[in-house]
Amino acid sequence: MSTLEEIRNYVDRLSEKTVNIARDIWEYAELSYTEIRSAKELEDALEEEGFRITTGIADIPTAFMAEYKVGTGVPVMGFLGEYDALDGLSQAAGKPVREAVVQGGCGHGCGHNLLGAGCFAAAVAVKDYLLNNEMNGTVIYFGCPAEEGAGSKQFIARAGYFDKVDFAYTWHPNSRNEVSGKSSVAIMGANFIFDGIASHAGGAPHLGRSALDAVELMNVGCNYLREHMIDQARVHYAYSDAGGTAPNVVQSHAVIKYEVRAPKVNQMQELFTRVVDIAKGAALMTGTEMNYEITMAFSDYIQNKTLAPIMSDALREAGPPAWTEEDYKLAGEFFRTYPKSTQQSILEQLAEYIDPDEIERTMLDRPLDSVTREFDPKETRYESGSTDVGDVGYATPTVTLHIATAGLGNVGHSWQNTALANSPIGMKGMLKAAEVMALAAVNTFRNPELIAKAKEELRKKNGGRYTCPLPEYVQPPIGRY
Ligand SMILES: [Zn+2]
Repeated sequence: MSTLEEIRNYVDRLSEKTVNIARDIWEYAELSYTEIRSAKELEDALEEEGFRITTGIADIPTAFMAEYKVGTGVPVMGFLGEYDALDGLSQAAGKPVREAVVQGGCGHGCGHNLLGAGCFAAAVAVKDYLLNNEMNGTVIYFGCPAEEGAGSKQFIARAGYFDKVDFAYTWHPNSRNEVSGKSSVAIMGANFIFDGIASHAGGAPHLGRSALDAVELMNVGCNYLREHMIDQARVHYAYSDAGGTAPNVVQSHAVIKYEVRAPKVNQMQELFTRVVDIAKGAALMTGTEMNYEITMAFSDYIQNKTLAPIMSDALREAGPPAWTEEDYKLAGEFFRTYPKSTQQSILEQLAEYIDPDEIERTMLDRPLDSVTREFDPKETRYESGSTDVGDVGYATPTVTLHIATAGLGNVGHSWQNTALANSPIGMKGMLKAAEVMALAAVNTFRNPELIAKAKEELRKKNGGRYTCPLPEYVQPPIGRY
């Protein structure tokens, strides 16, 4: 029996349980840091399989670690499971018509129910393989909450949980089957708090010092900054306290939320320092005081180029999910739920992956990714999103797999995605992801030289140790984010 066949057997044994877990987590639809039932269900399932559970790691109640050691326990690998939902995306399972289960409720619009359950199946399949083949190694399932919020993986990394991990694999539900070469950008979020002096805006304006003026000048300064920053950088802001609603009172207190993004974590930090300088200038100009608190930060994510080909080879060997005519039909129905203009822009975007002459026919007949796409080490582009997987990538060699759990061109963070995350298409993609990740993990365990090379690549990137982009004073914002 080939390694792939053996792994398929293990994933098959787990498939019913894995689908049930994914369905349950989908129904719980718990937001960042409140994933109590979701985490518990995964912990219980892993414990039943003999994993040793540590709950509440890195001072996050819904973060956990489940370990299984075989033989000497070396090498050590980690799977990164997520299970948090999104606000406002409640939607009936598998239904291509907008229909919330709970009006205004939460939903798995990013498919993290599939992500968490798929990593469960992969971790158990690797454990079974090691046991039955008398191979040494440790498999750890990291339960990582709040990816959609302020994150958890950077806190888990800062607490040293990845220090003895030789490599980490994860996946994300997607519309394609690929090991993408694209990276994601680093991000830092902060509140800037200005304090001035209140006074009668008509009677004694000269006695007032306006915090609102300071915020406005900070924004003007940052808008001038845009011309002098790199193209891929982003700066966004939102008022969280504009100082009240009375124009006849000089506003003595104002708070603005900023987010700064740049491809690399050091570029992001440099840009953030310039934003802080502008805030200081605004305070000086207005005679107010400025304080800021960093609220969140993720490092940029880049695939480990030494290990990505192992995942890519495993994907090619395992092949795409076996879609049926019914799956294609359902995917087509979802595609047609988008407004015509969105459909048009989806078709245009698909030209990046599909021969332009084939796009219309593909979307008509087979609108689910039916091929596998190789890792391209020469790819240098960045996606404009950010993820806390980036921090794991600075702590241990990390690779992320994409498997289709939705139709080609499907839009992320949408009700369509929530529906598909509890559909035959989503479940099929999830089980395929488990199979590919487990195969890649076993093949990596067998290749210690490659692991050494991957760690050398990491050393060049992080200088020998993980540095958290967050200052030490920033703790997981449980209940505050
Ligand atoms: Zn996600």
